[in-house]
Amino acid sequence: MNAATSAILINSAYIVASILFILGLKMLGRQASARRGNLISGVAMLIAIVATLLDHHVIDFRWIIVGLVAGTVIGLACAYWVKMTSMPEMVALLNGFGGLASLIVGAAEFFRIRGGTVLPERPIFTSATIYLTILIGGITFTGSVYAFCKLAEWLSGRPILFRGQHIVNSLLLLATVLAGVVYVISGDPQILLVTFGAFTLLSLVLGWTLVMPIGGGDMPVIISMLNSLSGLAACAAGFVINNNVLVVAGCLVGTSGVILTAIMCKAMNRSLTNVLFSGFGAAPAKSAGGEGEHATVEGELKPISAEDTFAVLEAARQVVIIPGYGMAVSQAQHVVRELAEILEQNGAEVRFAIHPVAGRMPGHMNVLLAEANVPYEQLVEMDAINPLMPTMDVAIVIGANDVVNPAAARDKTSPIYGMPIIKAYEARTVICLKRGKGTGFSGLENQLFLLPNTRMLYGDAKGSLQGVISEFKSLAAS
Ligand code: NAP
Repeated sequence: MNAATSAILINSAYIVASILFILGLKMLGRQASARRGNLISGVAMLIAIVATLLDHHVIDFRWIIVGLVAGTVIGLACAYWVKMTSMPEMVALLNGFGGLASLIVGAAEFFRIRGGTVLPERPIFTSATIYLTILIGGITFTGSVYAFCKLAEWLSGRPILFRGQHIVNSLLLLATVLAGVVYVISGDPQILLVTFGAFTLLSLVLGWTLVMPIGGGDMPVIISMLNSLSGLAACAAGFVINNNVLVVAGCLVGTSGVILTAIMCKAMNRSLTNVLFSGFGAAPAKSAGGEGEHATVEGELKPISAEDTFAVLEAARQVVIIPGYGMAVSQAQHVVRELAEILEQNGAEVRFAIHPVAGRMPGHMNVLLAEANVPYEQLVEMDAINPLMPTMDVAIVIGANDVVNPAAARDKTSPIYGMPIIKAYEARTVICLKRGKGTGFSGLENQLFLLPNTRMLYGDAKGSLQGVISEFKSLAAS
């Protein structure tokens, strides 16, 4: 086959792969079609890889085979062993490796040109794309590794803040840009090497320092932002090595990451700037109303026992379960499903109210409840459940705090004012499961826990639920 025909075939395969990527992404947007979407995207990736390998530019397959085997083994091991609950960490690592891969592609091209193997047709364009690949890839790599460490609790989830942090970060960014500009316009081999080394190192440092002041609870936003950056790095790498499908796939990852980041910021009613630079969750939150003044929260916490909780639930006909981060911590999803089934057998209608940012990753509650085989139809989104809340006999809040905090709806001085919440306080009785007086990620006290119709069922959520379930079981046995 001559070079022209093979180029046409390869580019056609790239177009097919790109169309399948877009279709796959679209199907991932709905639970019913998500599995097929994942499969279609996988097939698209296979087509892209095969087409790239058939490209006449490949001169030696040995290292490629080593890479393919190693990647396949690691990928299979992760798919088999990594738990659904560790997905945020997994995604963080994958983003990081995506960034690192792009950085290596950029560096390899730099040394190839420097070695005199190739002379770029458009030197400034090539240098600029190498610079962007390394800059974005480097920030993505170390930023993602830091996010991984926070999520895996290898590092504290608290934001790390120090005086002059913004100035330090701005100076680092400025130095990275300056090194890049000199690199792109300079033709001197020595200056090229020094500036290349400088911006590579600076971008790696910048990734770390940019994620430092962001709290563990905000990591999901950062991860989707880093995901977007890993896509942009891949896109830039696509320009460096002249690979069309890498450019398209990189753009798709980049834009979908931006959309997800925007959705999450909207669900928290916070801007991306606030997430990136405010150090949210660093210390007990203060009222915006005055210097160091805490939002006033009045009333008393009224504990309830498992037996009394059983009595309340036994009489209930409309029950809504509102899960939050604490359900993930206590791994209570299977017990929650068991309680829901018992309540249904007892004649109650049970719904699960899902807040878009409950937990620590987008769709965190959906994933946990799906793992426990809770039917999709029982999961109701925040906007759909809120109008029904006044008709609910009981709202069971399981380890959720910020996402049910009425201050977000009522207290204009609260840092979370304006964040959409599930209006648990409108239910006739509210039973809140938590271990003690711990605040949520925002560090704010929660007025919901002090309302006259709220009772606190203290303890680890899983244990507390098991207590209630055994009351139902002993009733059935007697
Ligand atoms: P939350 O506000 O962090 O509250 C979790 C609650 O769970 C705490 O009050 C804690 O109280 C309780 N808890 C912890 N372990 C428990 C256990 N073993 N058993 C029972 N209770 C337990 O959680 P949330 O209401 O789900 O809100 C999520 C927060 O993360 C929001 O501030 C949101 O903005 C933020 N966030 C989420 C995302 C996302 O993608 N999901 C993204 C960015 C930010 P005790 O310590 O007293 O038990």
